[in-house]
Amino acid sequence: MTAITPDNITVPRKLLDGDKTNLVGLTRDQMREALIAAGTPERQAGMRVGQLWQWIYQKGVTDFSVMTNLAKDYRALLTEKFTIARPEIVTRQVSSDGTRKYLLRIQGGHEVETVYIPEEDRGTLCISSQVGCTLTCSFCHTGTQKLVRNLTPAEIVGQILVARDDLGEWPKPGRHPKDETRLLSNIVLMGMGEPLYNFENVRDAMKIAMDAEGISLSRRRITLSTSGVVPEIPRAGAEIGCMLAISFHATTDEVRDKLVPINNRWNIEALLNALRAYPKLSNSERITFEYVMLKGVNDSDDDARRLVQLIKGIPAKINLIPFNEWPGAPYERSSNNRIRAFADIIYKAGYASPIRTPRGEDIMAACGQLKSATERARKSRAQIEAEIRG
Ligand code: SAH
Ligand code: SF4
Repeated sequence: MTAITPDNITVPRKLLDGDKTNLVGLTRDQMREALIAAGTPERQAGMRVGQLWQWIYQKGVTDFSVMTNLAKDYRALLTEKFTIARPEIVTRQVSSDGTRKYLLRIQGGHEVETVYIPEEDRGTLCISSQVGCTLTCSFCHTGTQKLVRNLTPAEIVGQILVARDDLGEWPKPGRHPKDETRLLSNIVLMGMGEPLYNFENVRDAMKIAMDAEGISLSRRRITLSTSGVVPEIPRAGAEIGCMLAISFHATTDEVRDKLVPINNRWNIEALLNALRAYPKLSNSERITFEYVMLKGVNDSDDDARRLVQLIKGIPAKINLIPFNEWPGAPYERSSNNRIRAFADIIYKAGYASPIRTPRGEDIMAACGQLKSATERARKSRAQIEAEIRG
C-alpha cells in the first residue's frame, strides 16, 4: 500500500449524485462563484448566497423546492445543478447518560464518528476532522487507526447538520433561538483527527458555524483541540479565532515525547511560547490544557507542581481526563484518589481543575475511544485469523 500524505488526500467537492455540486460547506465566495457559473446574474449572486445559507444552515432545508423566497424557475435551476447533501448515518447509539454517538458514512465509503453530549447548561457536539489520524499518541484509540483522508468542509459542517436533524432542532419559522437554549450550543473539535493538520477545511467549516447567516454560534462556543502543531497555532488565532485546547498530558519532554510524539518535533517550550502569543488571551478566554490521567506515568504530585510552574502566566484551565480504556490499551486509569490529589495541587495554585466525567462510555463514545467501526471489524478479523493460525 502506498503511504497517504496530507497533501494528496483532498477529495473533489462534487458528490456522486450525478454531476451536482453540494452547496454545504462552500465558503460565501465559493458559493457565489458556483451560482454565477450556473447562470445566476452577478448582481444578484451575493443576495442569493445569504438566502441559501439561511435555508441550509438556519432552517435545515435540503430541498430547493421549499425555498419560497426564490422564484420557481430559479428553484428548478438550483435543483438541476446542486444538492444539499449530508453524510449518511450508518448507526446511531444512545448511551444510558443521554450521549449520542453517530457513525457516519462519507464519500469513498469511509466512516467517521460524531458524539453529542447533553449537559445541564449546554449541549456539546464533538466533531471529527479527519478519518483516522497521522499522529500516534500512545494512549489514543484513534491514533491506532491510520489516516485515510482529511474531511472536506462539507463533511465537517455536515456533522453539525446531521446532529441537528436528529435532535429535531430546526427552528420554527420566525423564531431565532438563543445560543444558551439550543440543544446544540457548543462545538468541540475533539473527535477523530488532528484539526490543525486539516487547517483550511476546518477553518472554512468553522466560519460557517460562526456566521450569523450560518449555524450562528459564538466563537467562544467553539473549541479546537490540538496535540500541539505549533506553526499552525498563530494561524488558528488569526483565521478562526475560536477557543483553544491543548493535549498537554505531560510535564517533561521525556514523557511527552512518548505520549504525544509530535513533541519530538515541537517540544514543551516551543508549544508554551506559541500559547503565550495566542491572541485575545484574557481571564475570560482561557486556554484549556487537557491532561489525561495515566496511572504511574504522569500523575504524581511532582507532575502537578511542574504543570503549574510551566503554565505560569498563561490564562488557563486544566481539564483532567481520567484515561478511557480501550481494548489493548497499554495504560491504566489513575485512581480517583490520585486524580483528586493532583487536582487539589492545581486548584491551590489558582487554576480551575475540573475532572472530566467520562460520558457515553457504554457506547465507546468517550474521549480517545473513537475509531471507525470498519477499522474495528478489520482488526477483529485479523485477530481471529491470528488465533486460527496460532
Ligand atoms: N487530535 C486532537 C483532537 C482529538 S483528541 C488532539 O489530540 O488534541 C481529543 C482529546 O482526547 C485529546 O486531548 C486527547 O489527548 C484525548 N484522548 C485521547 N485518547 C484518550 C483516552 N484514551 N482517554 C482520555 N482522553 C483521551
Ligand atoms: Fe491524533 Fe489527537 Fe489521538 Fe493524538 S490524541 S492520535 S493527535 S486524535
